[in-house]
Amino acid sequence: MRLYISADMEGTAAVASWTQVDPKNTTEYPYYRRLMSLEVRAAIDGAREAGVKDVLINDSHSAMRNVMWDELPDDVRMIYGNRKPFSMSEGIEAGYSAAFFTGYHAGIGDADGTLDHTYTPDTLYNVRVNGIRCSEATLNAAVLGIYDVPVALISGDRTTVESALAQLPWLEGVITKESIGRFAVNSLSPAEARKRIRVGAQRAIERLGEMKPFRFESPISLELDFAGTQNADFAELIPGFERIGGRSVRFVHDDYAVVFKAFVAAFRLGAAANAPV
Ligand SMILES: [Zn+2]
Repeated sequence: MRLYISADMEGTAAVASWTQVDPKNTTEYPYYRRLMSLEVRAAIDGAREAGVKDVLINDSHSAMRNVMWDELPDDVRMIYGNRKPFSMSEGIEAGYSAAFFTGYHAGIGDADGTLDHTYTPDTLYNVRVNGIRCSEATLNAAVLGIYDVPVALISGDRTTVESALAQLPWLEGVITKESIGRFAVNSLSPAEARKRIRVGAQRAIERLGEMKPFRFESPISLELDFAGTQNADFAELIPGFERIGGRSVRFVHDDYAVVFKAFVAAFRLGAAANAPV
């Protein structure tokens, strides 16, 4: 059995601020990076109790060079580094039995979600697919769905887990903390969070028969609301994008792989417009 893990950081137990998850920070980040890595390890250990053999981890936070190899079993593989076409879902292909989302966080605009954002906190204000507000969890679940791979587990704060369950009700959800606004948490101890992730991971694999690949119905309409008009000015330059408002663009296509890559292109180009003029 093959398992794919997309590992983010903001949903890790005890994480409450940008400095803790910023690779440029030399005081807090090294400690929290280890906590993130140990949660990934707990998920792997639980999945292996239930029969998973091969594991591929995709480091999915910030510069995507966070998970510490020393904290992982020797026989896993990991995708490391940034600028990947499928970003947080890079490396997925047919043949994986399940995917886990560890350390995930709330979508931009969700109250009581630690560090709530969707990809680029300073650029993207809202993301909708087929009219439904999407978090990183749903956007990536649909990438995995292209390859018939179901998401089986998500870990993060209560808001993240509950909003994922609203769209993917079969998920095994592991709540690591309660968020108090955007920058404070009432958290489990990291050790207790790891215990629960390990148990949840085992259950998720044991319950695999209940898990379903997630897909958006075609034609797929992606709408992006940006933080500023300058971001939309850039995004609308991409062929196929239509300006639908001062800060908003739309892209429609039948193939979600095309839609997702268009999304990555639009938020990257949109973010480039934040450079000083
Ligand atoms: Zn992140």
